[in-house]
Amino acid sequence: MARVLLNNVARRFSTATAVDNITFEIPDGEFWVLVGPSGCGKSTVLRMIAGLDFPTQGEIYIGPQCVNDVPARNRDVAMVFQNYALYPHMTVAENLAFGLKMRQIDRAQIQQRVGTVAESLDLKHLLNRKPKQLSGGQQQRVALGRAIARNPQVFLLDEPLSNLDAQLRDDTRAELKRLHQLFGVTTLYVTHDQTEAMTLADQIVVLSQGQIQQIGTPQAIYRRPCNRMVASFLGSPPMNLLRTTYDGDAFQLKDQHIPCPASLRPVLKSFLDHPLDLGIRPEHIQVSPNWSDGMIAITVDLVEPLGRDNLIRAYLASDTSQSLTLVTQGEFLPQPGDRLGVSFVLDQMIIFDATTGAALSHDDRSV
Ligand code: ATP
Repeated sequence: MARVLLNNVARRFSTATAVDNITFEIPDGEFWVLVGPSGCGKSTVLRMIAGLDFPTQGEIYIGPQCVNDVPARNRDVAMVFQNYALYPHMTVAENLAFGLKMRQIDRAQIQQRVGTVAESLDLKHLLNRKPKQLSGGQQQRVALGRAIARNPQVFLLDEPLSNLDAQLRDDTRAELKRLHQLFGVTTLYVTHDQTEAMTLADQIVVLSQGQIQQIGTPQAIYRRPCNRMVASFLGSPPMNLLRTTYDGDAFQLKDQHIPCPASLRPVLKSFLDHPLDLGIRPEHIQVSPNWSDGMIAITVDLVEPLGRDNLIRAYLASDTSQSLTLVTQGEFLPQPGDRLGVSFVLDQMIIFDATTGAALSHDDRSV
């Protein structure tokens, strides 16, 4: 196992900058997740660590060694891709053993290692099958097993669960977490899927347009996003953002207003009448079937019953251009067109400068 350090790394192509001056260090044995929208540079970061692509600037360290000039085969990293890339003519056992054979490890040790990995991934009964005789989930487990069997210093996983159906995805995600607890190999995991990011990561790195937006624990990223991009990327449904202004006392939303908590007042002093985005997560909106004084009136647009609770899409009664998503308990099932009253949990609001997207209250809260 080893730490992985990227120091001021960039990858510029003649037509695009895929990765733009990024720096982060994954401590030995930690599981980090890289998230961001399509094209933000996630795979390029992974490929550079693996040695399949090279930085045009900066250094990459694995353990104490700068690996910029080390070829991929000598880096002691194992990469698992979305398409499993198993050897079709080999059995599961041969696929699991392949990396070890290449390193000329003795036969008894290979057998022992393959046995341990097959056991931990529930592949023992499949060892004599060829990849085409396996389900997608089983193939994915073999791909993971092949990487684990090599006992690398670092795992690089590029959307490894995205070809699996929902149930298998959940199961394999839990399996990955268990495997990490068992083997503790330093891991960088790329995903679009925020559930994977939230559940697996020690730390999440949010990337956008090749640049790091924020690095933090899942809780910190969720509860204290540093800007509007991070706020709207993590969380399903995403954080609501309402365009507003602050008049020195309250946030104004056309004919309605929302009180400003005392904790936000100092920072907002220099943003009087400046365009702001008021961020509030759906679970921090209290909903009442009857509007009363002090509540914000909304009109229900769409209702999505999910069983345990319902997702309600609505718009502000005073300004139909502003929409909100909120959640009600299963039995409270409003209908489209219903008028409801909502209030926000004030100390959970996050205010963004609408011009720059930066969170104004970012550093003032404990997670
Ligand atoms: P996705 O989630 O869609 O897989 P990603 O975040 O992994 O995307 P990358 O594949 O790392 O994104 O690509 C980052 C950017 O670099 C994209 O704009 C892409 O078009 C560009 N890019 C990647 N490889 C090359 C290349 N060989 N030549 C030119 N541009 C490239």
